[in-house]
Amino acid sequence: MSSSMRRDLAAGAAAGLIGGLAFAWAMQAQGLRAAAGLAGLSSTGTGVALEILAAILIGAGYGAIFRYQPFAYAATISSGVLYGLLWWIAGPLTLAPLLLGRGPGWSLQEADAALPSLVGHVLYGALTGLSFYALVSLYRRARPGAEVVAEPPAAPTRRVVILGGGFGGVSTAQRLEQLFARDPHLEIALVSQSNYLLFTPMLAEVASSGLEAQHISAPVRAACPHTRFVRAEVEGVDTATQVVRVRASPSVPVETLPYDHLALALGSVPNFYGLPGLEEHTFTLKTLDDATRLRNHAIALLERADVERSADERRRMLTFVVAGGGFAGTEMIAELLDLVHGVLRYYPNIQAHEPRFVLVHSGERILPEISAPLADYALRKLRTRGIEFMLNTRVAGASVDAVLVGDGGRIETHTLVWTAGNQPHPLLRTLPCERNRAGAVVADTTLRVVGLDNVWAAGDCAQIPDVNNEGRPCPPTAQHALRQGQVVAGNVAAVLRGQPLWEFRYRTIGTLVALGHRTAVAELRGWKFSGLLAWFMWRTVYLSKLPGLEKKVRVALDWTIDLFFPRDIVLTSHAATPTLAQTIGARSEVASAGATGPGAPAAADVRLEGGA
Ligand SMILES: Cc1cc2nc3c(=O)[nH]c(=O)nc-3n(C[C@H](O)[C@H](O)[C@H](O)COP(=O)(O)OP(=O)(O)OC[C@H]3O[C@@H](n4cnc5c(N)ncnc54)[C@H](O)[C@@H]3O)c2cc1C
Repeated sequence: MSSSMRRDLAAGAAAGLIGGLAFAWAMQAQGLRAAAGLAGLSSTGTGVALEILAAILIGAGYGAIFRYQPFAYAATISSGVLYGLLWWIAGPLTLAPLLLGRGPGWSLQEADAALPSLVGHVLYGALTGLSFYALVSLYRRARPGAEVVAEPPAAPTRRVVILGGGFGGVSTAQRLEQLFARDPHLEIALVSQSNYLLFTPMLAEVASSGLEAQHISAPVRAACPHTRFVRAEVEGVDTATQVVRVRASPSVPVETLPYDHLALALGSVPNFYGLPGLEEHTFTLKTLDDATRLRNHAIALLERADVERSADERRRMLTFVVAGGGFAGTEMIAELLDLVHGVLRYYPNIQAHEPRFVLVHSGERILPEISAPLADYALRKLRTRGIEFMLNTRVAGASVDAVLVGDGGRIETHTLVWTAGNQPHPLLRTLPCERNRAGAVVADTTLRVVGLDNVWAAGDCAQIPDVNNEGRPCPPTAQHALRQGQVVAGNVAAVLRGQPLWEFRYRTIGTLVALGHRTAVAELRGWKFSGLLAWFMWRTVYLSKLPGLEKKVRVALDWTIDLFFPRDIVLTSHAATPTLAQTIGARSEVASAGATGPGAPAAADVRLEGGA
């Protein structure tokens, strides 16, 4: 047993005695011994000795379970309160009636009779927690350094490094934490450029001012408390020497992290297919930054349009184009419409018919992720609300004030949101392993990267065969990434323990797509839902999946507020959005190049290489 455990057991026992004595005295004084479950123990010497013994044992149990946490006296007291509550259930409600031959007292009458002692138990717990914290703090002050000498941290003998703090990376770390339960011989390190796990299904709502940005993201440090988190950019992986090169910021030197097992979960990045102007003039929707930038841009455009005299410029400002008719693009165009129409009351010079919303999609129908009848329903609903759809149409390029579409079409706009293409993280191309045409690492059914023995992969950066679907690649969704991360962790543990590996097997539960305006479509295990019911399901399902109780409460509050109040139009950034900042200069630039002027050949010389 470690010295800190011995310390916590002893301090817990002493604290339990203090709390127990105070409790017995209070119950006696109030004439509540029976209600507290102490009646069976008479006030004879043996009875008192038994009470003292019970108080010591219960206190030691407290110390062993909750352990001492420095600077956490409030948390220690609240865990004491919880402990007291549990003992109220275990003592007067369960053990005392059992000892008295009445069976467990889980009836309303028994609970009613024991209720007066609830306060006593809660106070007992709080006092035990407080005494425990005070005793350990005194001990540490009296013997500084005693524990450091007695218990040097064990050097880890195995290191698992996880790259990426999204669904795949965080679930790998969480499962490893469970499987190795603070084993000092295993170090788990997670490297990510963002210090939070982003709940992407709600990203469009952040961009439309429906949700606060921080509410849909959970800090990785809180989600994986026993993992060493490194906020840094991964610069490279050397699989021969088994080290990862990371850099926390451009001004600091590169740090190397050695690994025994490496988990790749770097996700994907937007793919612009080399189309002209896209990288410079589009809004992407992958990060919190993307969503807040788009939100500020849309609101800044409304501010500008409200005072703009030129009809052409107003039209450009009030035209919002989304490229890509998958779930991200469809949800985004619906949310943009909800945002703009929801706040028009603040912009008296903008008429309701002026804002225009266009979705450009290369396929015949939107939402290829769900069945045709539901996609048709979504299309009809969104068309009724005024969204224009350009199907079988590809984006060919973009400039600061236009989107070029198809074979020469042009939409005058300052807003193009790009959800039409993603590619696996480019860093993967440097790895000496098998990759598919898109650049994703190829993994086998156990999620081991083909060609590298101790490298594993999860999520959007990998091509993983779906054994339930004739080995076709798993779709790039959060529900897959999350479960793949768990299997990666299980298989790393299996290799370290010499056990057989698991296969990744997962059947998609379903797809839910929010269409704004309290409408959605949902397909769950073949069952189809649409309208208000599907919207309710969307919210319930995603709220339950959102990590952390605190975030759930915050999002539920945001949604409740959204029912009664218009969306917030506070601009959280004073900087003009890049598109707007460049508007005037770039417009004349592009016009002089002959691409945007009235009657110009528009997209004629723009080559189509892919896209929406
Ligand atoms: C708008 C939107 C809506 C979506 N809606 C849904 C939905 O409703 N349902 C669903 O199942 N899926 C949805 N998805 C898809 C889902 O988000 C992805 O499939 C999932 O996030 C993939 O998880 P991942 O761990 O592979 O990658 P990600 O979650 O993208 O995580 C990648 C991580 O790697 C980090 N990273 C990247 N590069 C580096 C680097 N060089 N150095 C350090 N760290 C790096 C990133 O910061 C990030 O933490 C949506 C996606 C988007 C964009």
